[in-house]
Amino acid sequence: MTVELINTGAELLLGRTLNRHQQWLCRRLSDLGYEVIRQVTVADVAGAICDAVRESLGRADVVMTTGGLGPTSDDLTRQSVAAMLGRPLHPDPAVLAHIQAVFQRLNRSLPDMVRVQALVPEGAEVLPNPVGTAPGLALVVDPNPYRAGQRRSLLIMLPGPPRELHPMFDGAVVPLLARVLGQTEPYVCRTLRTTGVPESLVEKRIGAPLAPMVREGLDLGYCARPGEVDVRLSARGSRAQALVSGAFEVVREALSSFIYTDQEEELEEVLIRLLTERRLTLALAESCSGGLIAHRLTDVPGASQVFLAGMVTYSNPAKHQWLGVSETILREHGAVSAPVARAMAEGVRRAAGADLGLAVTGIAGPGGGTEAKPVGTVFLAVAWEQGMEVVERHHPWDRATFKQVTSQQALELVRRHLLGLPMNEKPPQAA
Ligand code: ATP
Ligand code: MG
Repeated sequence: MTVELINTGAELLLGRTLNRHQQWLCRRLSDLGYEVIRQVTVADVAGAICDAVRESLGRADVVMTTGGLGPTSDDLTRQSVAAMLGRPLHPDPAVLAHIQAVFQRLNRSLPDMVRVQALVPEGAEVLPNPVGTAPGLALVVDPNPYRAGQRRSLLIMLPGPPRELHPMFDGAVVPLLARVLGQTEPYVCRTLRTTGVPESLVEKRIGAPLAPMVREGLDLGYCARPGEVDVRLSARGSRAQALVSGAFEVVREALSSFIYTDQEEELEEVLIRLLTERRLTLALAESCSGGLIAHRLTDVPGASQVFLAGMVTYSNPAKHQWLGVSETILREHGAVSAPVARAMAEGVRRAAGADLGLAVTGIAGPGGGTEAKPVGTVFLAVAWEQGMEVVERHHPWDRATFKQVTSQQALELVRRHLLGLPMNEKPPQAA
């Protein structure tokens, strides 16, 4: 089953709004086994919308549009698509009643222009909008004059606001697709997320052993971001499960302790889960990461159970006054050093009364580097009641990347500590 996605909106083409529907819908659709073969963005112009819809109807089993169902003059999708397909628009009493109820709840009178949202093209199915006024619309185009053999396509128009689109997709579109198109071919997808192994090495390590499975139809994808590489394994058809399971074992064997999850979760989620299971608390002393580690941890629901405090001690006096790092150590070793990282980790652990203290101190650049400690040098330390460990790393990149990678390694350090894995483990070499 092929899908084409058409996102409408001048704001997307002007770069004012990031096209989040593209990612969100493609992800959902591919997880459900549909194959998205093309995505385009067009302006809020009737001609551009119709051109795109016509072209997609010529190729795809499902054509999905987003945006342009609202009441303003730039909301043109409903009217222009209906006109193109020769489907007159009729007011739908149930939709109008829903819109009236929404306005009544808001204690506002219903402006005339909003009534267009109750117009439904002849033969279209209404997709309810539980959180807004404009419903989605679905049409089976059959016969389909734009496609070879006049083969039918399903056309689905969805609203632009993400908070309306998401529940409508899950609540109405998913069942509609299953009902109209029937079962999709079996599709299996699993992702293993790794940290600490460069992308090229990941590929070197698993590319060759997986090659026979790739020849049998396994789809192997790598996605590298600062500080991590995802390995995505997917396959379609009756052998999908066997292929993906086989490949999964190969990757797990090859990258073992560098895999932090095979679920759809972030490293910070893994960490909060591990801390929660072990009933351990964490406190943070950050310097060069500027609070990013605390930010990532506090993105996770339930973090408050295990994350006690985070301090951004950027200056030497702050490290001394708040964390008790001795002035002698600071003077003799410099703020970016293993002894200072250790003292910060132990200092924040004591100050917060936590089981674990985590600290990072480094040189983000572009200035401040020396020959002995070039830009990108960072020390990361973890302290617990009976011990302490510190590692040195180098990331001579821009500040944003430096901070991201540093935060990743800091979280990884704690994960390794909790699982009893070596902190300085060398990434696996090529098979
Ligand atoms: P409304 O009734 O709010 O006018 P609509 O269905 O007409 O809804 P649009 O006017 O196209 O939709 O978009 C409404 C808002 O939704 C936009 O201002 C934008 O913030 C958001 N939006 C639309 N398309 C996208 C997209 N592809 N990615 C992210 N946000 C989007
Ligand atoms: Mg609009």
